[in-house]
This record gives sequence, structure tokens and C-alpha cells, in this order.
Amino acid sequence: MKKNNSKDVAIIGAGFSGGVVAHVLAEAGFKCSVYEKRSHIGGNCFTERDVQTGVNKHVYGPHIFHTDNEKVWNFINQFAEFMPFVNRVKAIAKERVFSLPINLLTINQFFNKTLSPDQAREFIQTISDQTIDEPQNFREQALKFVGKELYESFFEGYTIKQWGLQPEELPASILKRLPLRFNYDDNYFSHKYQGMPKNGYTEIFEKLFDHENIEVKLSTSFDRDKASSYSHVFYSGPIDHYFDYQFGSLPYRTLDFEVFYPDTNDYQGTAVLNYCDKDVPFTRITEHKHFSPWESHEKTVCYREFSRECSEGDIPYYPIRLASEQTQLLEYISLAENEDGVTFLGRLGTYRYLDMDVTIQEALEIAEKFLMCFETGEKMPALSEKTR
Ligand code: UDP
Repeated sequence: MKKNNSKDVAIIGAGFSGGVVAHVLAEAGFKCSVYEKRSHIGGNCFTERDVQTGVNKHVYGPHIFHTDNEKVWNFINQFAEFMPFVNRVKAIAKERVFSLPINLLTINQFFNKTLSPDQAREFIQTISDQTIDEPQNFREQALKFVGKELYESFFEGYTIKQWGLQPEELPASILKRLPLRFNYDDNYFSHKYQGMPKNGYTEIFEKLFDHENIEVKLSTSFDRDKASSYSHVFYSGPIDHYFDYQFGSLPYRTLDFEVFYPDTNDYQGTAVLNYCDKDVPFTRITEHKHFSPWESHEKTVCYREFSRECSEGDIPYYPIRLASEQTQLLEYISLAENEDGVTFLGRLGTYRYLDMDVTIQEALEIAEKFLMCFETGEKMPALSEKTR
């Protein structure tokens, strides 16, 4: 791409990556043109009020904001009032309801015991597979972590449904996202800050993009030939798409949401209920009103969530990122590194399973790095070091 030194930048994607970069650069005096393929801002964090019930829906599935990063927490709090919210997930396994992540209540209920924290720790030691030293995959990680019975009840079926793969084929890192607790703390996350934006996520994006230096072009794809009219391009779309899938499509899982309106005021009593059994075709049900417990609504709206392979035209959600796909990804990374004047960022731009807070943190770092490079003339990197 031919470089130009104007203060015009193009930002592809109006999710958190694009929103944060646009906001920071607009404040620094750059003119930001944001290209968004969809007809709305917010990416998969988009929320909107359901017409029938008035409930604020997480249109692309549940998003609970949580972080340990104070800078990110302070940043995001400029754009929304956050209400206290703790994600307490329940899971149905073999016709019984349990609390997740696995904690002392789960262990005691599952095994019909009354163990103390120390006793539970010892007990899990006796049932977990201690012959596994370095877990090589999801299954081994789970067996080492909680043993066969808990693995089979909570993780095996859900994971096969979620990823469309056998747990032996998946990396151990996926399970490492979940804690195991020997107390009654049933907070799904272990982060210092957690909350829910009072009026939904879309308002955050409206505020991020509300700047005289930002123009958001909805329902508009970015044409790579236009890149030379900008001093830099920030690309948060799928990296394989940018390069016309020349090494094939990187695999993703997509989600289908089956909306239903139960004939009751409260269908399941909680926001997220996981269905761990293999023979139930969906992974979870989300009852959106429970994300805003400070509101009251007469009716309720729920989503049954199904996961499947992502094909052309589907929305990519979860990058699968198997070891076997590493070569293909590295080919795209190497193309990206040779693409002058473009930085790839975010979940789709870097093909990583990123939570919202990490996406924001990296976008802040990229925006700050760009401002420094613009000042000093240093070359702006195509990717952050964390991508590989
Ligand atoms: N998982 C599971 N059973 C559950 C919840 C999670 O087996 O009831 C596994 C599943 O493989 C999932 C992973 O743990 O992909 C990480 O869970 P997390 O809740 O972080 O997934 P996300 O909310 O990102 O879909």
C-alpha cells in the first residue's frame, strides 16, 4: 500500500476494536472513517430492546463485562453506567441442576456429600487423574482437573456440541478459562471488576463513535483499493477475508439463536442455563431479562443457542485455532506482516478467542502505539506481539 501522511485513517469494523481505536484517534485529531459491513454498530456485543417484551436483548449471545485491568475498567466506565452484575451460571446435567463453575456446592451436590473445603480438595485429588503430567488436550486437562465423572457430566457433551470436535482434538487452553473452587463462590469469573451496562452495550458504541472526527459508514464493505487514500488502515474483520482466502478459510464456529417467548414472567430464574448433556441439541438458554435485574418486565424472551460449523455467509464467532491450523494461520500472519500501512486487530483480525476486556486493552495499546509511530516516523506494526 502506498503510504500517505494525512491524518485520515480507515477503521474496519465497528465492534470494540474499531470503537476504541476510532475514539482514541479522533480525540487526537485524526479523521476516522469507520466501515461496518452490518447495518448496526457494536459487533457481536450489540444489544437492542425486544419489540414484544421491552427487554434489552444480547442479540449475539450473552456478554458479561469482567476484567482485572483497571485501565480498561476506567476507560469503559466513561461510556456507560455499569450496574453490579455477577455471572452465576447454572447447568443441567443428567436431569439435575448444578452451579458452575465447579465449586464446593457442585461437588457436594453431585456426589451427595457434605465436604468441607479441605475435604473436597482431597476428594478431588483422589478422583482426578494424577497420571497426567502435562495435559495435551482438553480431555486430559479435564481428567487431571476434576476426574472422569465430573468431566463426563459437565464438559464432554457440552464441548462436543460447542466445538463440533472430540475433546481430545481440542487444546487444553479452552478449559483453562474455567476455575475450580473449593468454596461456595459461584461467580463464573475471578476478575476484580464485573458489571453490566445499565442501558445495554449499544449505548457504549454510540458514545465511542460520537465525535466530530468520526464517520461511521454502516452496511458498507471496505474496498482494499481505497487503502492508499488513508495514512493507515485498522482492520478488525477476518484476516483470511482480507487476503481473499488465498490459503483457505480459517475455521470458526457460528451460533444460531432460536428465539422463544415463554408464557410466563420468569422461564428459568437466571440469565444463563447450560445444557451439558449430549442428547440435548442446544448448549444453553439465555433469558435476557435477568441481565437487567434492575428493570421489570411483564413478559420474557429467551434464546436457545446452537453451535455449528461456520460456512460462507455465516457470522464467525469462535476461532477454533487447532494446532493443525497453525500453518495456515502463520501463512496469513506472514502476509499481514508484509502488508504496509495496515494493522490487524481484534478477535477476527488476529483469529483469537478474546474476551471484551482484552480486545479493549489491545485496541488501546494499538491506538497509543500508532500515535507514537505517527510522531516519530517509526513503522507501525501489522500485528501486536501477542498474536502468535
Ligand atoms: N464448558 C463446558 N461445559 C459448560 C461450560 C463450559 O464443557 O457447561 C467448556 C466448553 O468447552 C467451553 C469452555 O468450557 O467452550 C469455556 O467455557 P466459557 O464459558 O468460557 O465459554 P464461552 O462463554 O466463551 O462460550
